[in-house]
Amino acid sequence: NTHLDQDGDTGKIRVFCRIRPMSRTETARGDSTIVSRLDEYSITVETARGQREFQFDRIFDTKCSQEEVFQDTNSFLYPRLIQSAIDGFNVCIFAYGQTGSGKTFTMVGGKNLKNPGIIPRTFNTIFDIIHENEAKFDIKVSAYMMELYNDRLQDLFVSPAEAFAKRIEMKKDKKGLVFAQGAETKEAASASELFALFEQGCANRHIAATKMNVESSRSHLIIGIMMESRNLTNGSVCYGKLSLVDLAGSERAAKTGAKDSQLKEANSINKSLSALGDVISALSSEQQHVPYRNNKLTQAMQDSLGGNAKTLMFVNISPSDCNVEETLTSLMYATRVK
Ligand code: ADP
Ligand code: MG
Repeated sequence: NTHLDQDGDTGKIRVFCRIRPMSRTETARGDSTIVSRLDEYSITVETARGQREFQFDRIFDTKCSQEEVFQDTNSFLYPRLIQSAIDGFNVCIFAYGQTGSGKTFTMVGGKNLKNPGIIPRTFNTIFDIIHENEAKFDIKVSAYMMELYNDRLQDLFVSPAEAFAKRIEMKKDKKGLVFAQGAETKEAASASELFALFEQGCANRHIAATKMNVESSRSHLIIGIMMESRNLTNGSVCYGKLSLVDLAGSERAAKTGAKDSQLKEANSINKSLSALGDVISALSSEQQHVPYRNNKLTQAMQDSLGGNAKTLMFVNISPSDCNVEETLTSLMYATRVK
């Protein structure tokens, strides 16, 4: 290992809260801002029943740039988490929140590659670290990319037609790493190769969503990046994995007017997100039994939560009074995690 876990982050879940700016529509409509950052660690939300305060490991205000999020003050995310994955830890970064709260902006970035988010920045950092260490370590990078929609895992590295015809199951290998059996794993020799794979995956996701006439924000996006690092001095090998997850929108299904297919979709999302919440709260209250097997989402994230894993959750929220209920629900969900 190039570094050890000096920070004792394993098994812990950190939660960063990010408040997106008001949208043009919200501003034009005259929505009021109900969320404010008190300090680096706390926010307050104005509700009909008074003010409520929430504490997290870090708060990113509406004006925080993508750089500031990536290079947060404690350097927890960058470079520590990424270095850890190369050093043989399982690292997971995921975003939770209602649709439109800024999950994809945080994980992927703005439209047309403007304002790159955590995923493209991480790709660059991985290969920067590899190049810095190439005299001592030979590091191989490979990845899979899939989405979870209506309890079905779909490979995003093959065409939607091919993906639909096969079955993916989460399995554990001899090293205890979870892998997606049936999913294509592709090697990448540079950040740009990895990014090209990611873009291909996004294109397949878009085609599949369009074909089925669904919103891609109604599925969970799961990327696994495997790192195999061989020490050139003593020949020892270690395996690490970085999981990057952009979760489906956490909002409750519309109570009225939802079609059957939308209800099925919403139920499946609610089930998976509550299974994730159960796993996380079992871990944080140090329960013996962690219910990973209850859902495909928690199966897919199993090696990224608890044990030897280092986990970072973003809870993305809207500042507008229009979203107060969803904002409170998200903040309460994220509070369970700590
Ligand atoms: P989600 O993935 O949670 O559904 P998005 O990431 O797509 O939400 O964000 C919704 C809209 O808000 C997008 O147009 C996005 O560019 C914008 N947005 C989200 N967060 C920010 C931010 N921190 N700064 C600027 N624009 C943002
Ligand atoms: Mg999104």
